[in-house]
Amino acid sequence: MGFRRYVGTWGRLNPTPPWYHRLMPYKNLDTKRQYQLEWMWRRRSAWILANGPCRWCGSVSNLQVSWRNPANKTVKVSGIWSRSDAKRAELLANCEVLCEKCHKRKIAIWHAVKAALNRKQDDEEAPGH
Ligand SMILES: [Zn+2]
Repeated sequence: MGFRRYVGTWGRLNPTPPWYHRLMPYKNLDTKRQYQLEWMWRRRSAWILANGPCRWCGSVSNLQVSWRNPANKTVKVSGIWSRSDAKRAELLANCEVLCEKCHKRKIAIWHAVKAALNRKQDDEEAPGH
C-alpha cells in the first residue's frame, strides 16, 4: 500500500487522536473541545502525510513527530498543533517524522550520547586528570 493511501485509510479508521481518550475523565467533552481535538488531529495527520514516511527506515506504521535535534526541544510535540500557523511552521521546521520504533531508538541514542558527554565533562573537570 502506498504511503498516501495508507495515511488516508488510517485517518478514516482512526478519526480521534490517542490523547482524546486520555481526556476521558472529562466525560462531557463539549462539542467545541471535541471539534478542537479533531482539528488538531487533522493538522497532525496532514503534516505527517506531507513529511513522512519514517526518515530512518521508511516505515509507514505508527508514525510520530520527533524533534530533529532533541537538544533544541522547546515544547512538547503534542503542544505544537494548537499554535498559530506561523509558530507552527517555525516549530515544525525543527521536527521530522519517525516511526514509533525509530523514535524510541533515537531517544535511547540521545540519552546515551548525553550521558557520555556528561561523563566526559566530569572527567575534564576532575582534578588530577
Ligand atoms: Zn522507522
